[in-house]
Order: sequence, then structure tokens, then C-alpha cells
Amino acid sequence: MSEDTTVSKNSSADAALRANLAEIRARVDAACSRAGRSVEDVTLVAVSKTHSVEAIRALYDAGQRVFGESYVQEWQEKRELLEGAGCGDVEWHFIGHLQSNKAKYLADEVALIHSVDRKSVLKRLQKRSREPVDVLLQVNVGNQSTKGGVASNAVIDLIKTAREFADIRVCGLMCIPPYVSNPEDNRGHFRQMRQTFERAREWLGAQEDGDEASANFRHLSMGMSGDFEVAIEEGATHVRVGTALFGARDYDN
Ligand SMILES: *Cc1c(COP(=O)(O)O)cnc(C)c1O
Repeated sequence: MSEDTTVSKNSSADAALRANLAEIRARVDAACSRAGRSVEDVTLVAVSKTHSVEAIRALYDAGQRVFGESYVQEWQEKRELLEGAGCGDVEWHFIGHLQSNKAKYLADEVALIHSVDRKSVLKRLQKRSREPVDVLLQVNVGNQSTKGGVASNAVIDLIKTAREFADIRVCGLMCIPPYVSNPEDNRGHFRQMRQTFERAREWLGAQEDGDEASANFRHLSMGMSGDFEVAIEEGATHVRVGTALFGARDYDN
């Protein structure tokens, strides 16, 4: 294959990625207007797990800065390559299931960890951190046995646990509802998450450090490729979109 062919193949792949990004941003904007929300209140996390550094670079060049990864080692390798390529200002979010022995690699290294659901992970993060670690607590909506997260009625207890650690900053909640072909089927889950979120924020507001604690508690990470618009209508501040931006993944977790 000649070099020219490779170049044109890559640039058409890049054009497709840019078009996907423009389309998803337009859909985010439209969902925000339907809900009477400001676009600044919703962060698009481009979920790049399993996708190449070149694909990330294409979206980066189109202005995307927030990327989400699920596997610690894969993320470390990609980050190094991107930093070497002059993309040192990527804002990394960790969204994957987190084992406590891997948590130490994330403290002070990523902007937000979306998937904290137990004390052992908090403990490792605290041990390694030199500055506050921003985390979201993962809630298991729909009681799915295969997904992580605590039950809605255990959220306050997990917040209490997290607050025992001086350098952990609890910034909100995250959920991964069941996969559905009709996004409307998840509206009830998103609405329930929003209620859980509001209750938790009220509880925080009533604590001794309530003003600060409730101000920090401001993110609601929910909505993926199939249902992010409904999630935005129901109050999501972070939508995690992979497939609709990058195409299908070769393998999955
Ligand atoms: C992979 C993944 C996503 C992206 O899912 P898509 O359906 O490809 O948009 C979002 N959130 C989490 C936690 C994931 O693991």
C-alpha cells in the first residue's frame, strides 16, 4: 500500500470522527434547549476505551478535551503517547470498574473518577493523594447484579464513609442503567438518580460543613450513546459517549 493511500484513508477516518463529534454536540445542545438548560452545564465525556490514540487525536484536533477511559494500563499508555504528541491538556476521566490495587495510579492524575463504590478504593486514593481527589459515587440503578455501585438507599452511608477521608472530595453521583433499545425506557432510572442526587445534596447541606460540601456535590454522570439525550433532559451534567463518537468497539468489558 502506498503512503498516499494510507494518508487519505486516515484523513477520511478523521473526517468521519469530526462529523460524529459535530453531530453529538448538536444533539447535546438540542437536548439542553429542550430542557431549558445551558450547554455549559453539560460536559461531553468522549469515551475512548479500546480506541486508538489516532482516533483520540482526531477529536482532540476538533476541539474535544475531555476523554474517558476504563482500564488503568490502557489509559496510562495512551496518555503518555498523547503527551509526547503535544496533547498534554487532555482532561482525563476514569469511568471503569476500579480495583483497589489500581486506584493508586489515578490519585492526582485524572480530573474525575466516576466509578467509586467502596471503602477500599477510597482508602487507596487517600493514601496516594497529595491534593484533593474528585470522585463520583456509583449507584446501581435497576439493581443489576453485573454492574458495580451501591443501592440508592445506601448512598448516604457511602458519602459518610467517603467523608472520613480528608483528601476525598465527593462531587456527585454516577450510574450505568441497563442497556435499552428505546432510551425512554431509562427515563425513570435517570429521574430516580436525580432524586437520589437531590436528597444527598440536601443531606450534605445540613452537615457542619454544609455550604462547602453541598457546593462540591454538583455532578450527575449519566447517559451513554443510546440514551444521553434523555439523561440530559433529566439533569445529567456529564454524558459518557463512546460508540456514537468512535464507532463500535472491538472488544468490551
Ligand atoms: C464504555 C462505557 C461508556 C460508553 O458507552 P457507549 O454506549 O459506547 O456510549 C459509558 N460509560 C461507561 C461506564 C462505560 O464503561
